[in-house]
This record gives sequence, C-alpha cells and structure tokens, in this order.
Amino acid sequence: MAARILDGTKLAHEIRAEIGQEIQRLSASGLRPGLAVILVGHNPASEVYVRGKVKASEEVGLYSEQHSPAESSSTDELLDLVDSLNHRDEIDGILVQLPLPSHVDSKKVLLAVDPAKDVDGFHPMNVGYLSTQRPGLVPCTPAGVMEILRRSNIPVAGQEAVVVGRSDIVGKPVAMLLLNQNATVTVCHSKTRDLAGVCRRADILVAAIGRAGMVTPDFVKPGATVIDVGINKVTDRAEFDRFFGGNAKRLESFQAKGSTLVGDVHPKVAEIAGAITPVPGGVGPLTIAMLMANTVKAAKMRRGTRELQIAD
Ligand code: NAP
Repeated sequence: MAARILDGTKLAHEIRAEIGQEIQRLSASGLRPGLAVILVGHNPASEVYVRGKVKASEEVGLYSEQHSPAESSSTDELLDLVDSLNHRDEIDGILVQLPLPSHVDSKKVLLAVDPAKDVDGFHPMNVGYLSTQRPGLVPCTPAGVMEILRRSNIPVAGQEAVVVGRSDIVGKPVAMLLLNQNATVTVCHSKTRDLAGVCRRADILVAAIGRAGMVTPDFVKPGATVIDVGINKVTDRAEFDRFFGGNAKRLESFQAKGSTLVGDVHPKVAEIAGAITPVPGGVGPLTIAMLMANTVKAAKMRRGTRELQIAD
C-alpha cells in the first residue's frame, strides 16, 4: 500500500497562521518580535534562503531587518555587528546565514550571538539546554521534524527511531529531540556497519545524509514512518531515470528546468513506508516556519527572563 504523504507545505501554512495570530496578539500588547538576518557577501544559494526568511517574516508580521556586510568583512567587524544586535532590545532573534567567507572565524561569530537570541539554536548553551531538557532554542530543521510527527499524530514514545546522519545542525539534535520524547534512538553515520539492517529496525527513520536517494526500500521496515531531510539537486538524465523513471509529470518539469530535487530517500520507498515526507514539500517548508516560531519564542522567553530579573 502506498505511504501516507506527510505534507510539509500544508503543515507549515498551519504553523505560520498560528504564529501570525500570536504575533498580532503580542504586537497589540506592545511587543512585536524582531528578527535580524546577517548575510555576508554574495553567495547565490544563501541569498535565496535569506530572501525566503525575510519574506516569511514579513508575512507573519515579525519586524525584520537584513544586514549585508561585504564579503571582505573581517571577523572583528562581524563580531561588532553581532554585539550591536545583541544589545538592541527590539531584536529578539539573530540569524547568521552560513557559510561565512573562509577568512572569517565562523565559530567565533556564532559563539558571540547572545544565546537568548540564537534562533538557529546552534550556540553551545542551547545545545546544552536541549541535551539536559531545559527550555531553550532548538535548531529549526530538527524542530520541524518533530512538528511533522506531532501534527501527523505519529507516536514517538517507546518507538524505535533510527537517525542517519550526526551533524550538529540536523542529525544530533533530531536524535536528542526523539530521545527527549522517549523514543529508543540509534544514530548512524558513515562508519556504521550494516546500515540497511540497522535502519530496518526503525519505526521512525530519519535520513539526514546529503546523498541522493541513498535510503532504498531494503532499508525500510514495511509501514515505518520515513522523514527525509535531504535536499539534493539532480541534473543528470540517467540519475533522473534511476529515481523518477516513468514519472511523466516530473520529467516534463525536469526537462523545462534542467534539474529536479530528490531527498536522501529513494522515491520507491513510498511504496512500502507507512508515512513519508516528500521532497520538495516535506521537511523544507517546516524549517522556515520553525525559524518564525523560534523568534516568537525568543521574544517571549527574553521578556520572561527580564521580568524575573526585575522581580528579583
Ligand atoms: P552533513 O553535515 O554533511 O552530515 C551528513 C551526515 O551523513 C554525516 O553524519 C555523515 O557521516 C553521514 N553520512 C554521509 N554519508 C554516509 C553514508 N554513506 N552512510 C551513512 N552515513 C553517511 O549534512 P547535514 O547538514 O546534516 O545535511 C544533511 C542533508 O539534509 C543534506 O541533504 C542537506 O541539504 C539537508 N538539509 C535540509 C534542510 C531542510 O531544511 N530540509 C536543512 C538542513 C540540511 P559522518 O559523520 O561519519 O561523516
């Protein structure tokens, strides 16, 4: 039986509508959450991502501003910019779009972001909060994965979850979130033995690898939920045929654009999984929605903290 398609675009619309209402409510009480995005230089892919983030911010009613320092900016100049944003009360979230130019010390810049404004959730302080189950800011893509499971009524507690990928931005935080929700979690990586066999144990399989269609049907237990985080561009016709052979609609779009997107999961997995996220239109749309949610969360948490300090 064909898998249930977990429609990330629809879920992201729902979340954005809810966030929009929350922002209206907060704005009416004099607190309009604000997001500052820093985009250094002219990386075309980063420019597209940042445009999407700024547009989404405007749509939900956040205050947003973009800073575009020159490619030649030094680490110290970027630290000064981050510092000035850290000190501005109307800015609740600071997002440094990666990658930064190679001459910049990226770790130093990311570490300088006030953890209370770290809407990407990459600061070691937020990583620590996540792993010790304290309130904090959670990375957007992993938070989006959990939101898909929650809103699709897919149980997590007690389930076998396998995460393929152990990056700091996706694999590890997804694994931690699943563990915090009482799944039994296995994390796989490039040195894992019998990867397909380990994946077949999963009730929930999360693929965050960065390799087109690597998870094939033999990795998947029939009926499992498969969350495909991967986004890979396919431009080669033979590769296209390997994934989408016989799909006339997809072929038409591939021929018109010269490329198509495929996840880390082979499309044939949809024939045996119980539920699956499509690519595009699965995890991707949730990432930006969760960035909006994190900005609102940061605004509320900061006020909460400040009120506590005043009360103290
Ligand atoms: P990454 O930093 O390159 O990490 C990839 C992980 O996959 C690593 O842990 C690596 O293992 C593992 N891996 C690579 N080849 C493997 C193999 N043959 N067998 C088993 N494991 C293997 O990638 P990432 O930043 O986590 O991103 C993963 C994917 O998600 C990419 O396609 C990216 O474009 C996509 N992504 C999507 C969104 C979204 O919004 N949808 C957001 C972020 C990322 P080792 O650690 O052993 O090297």
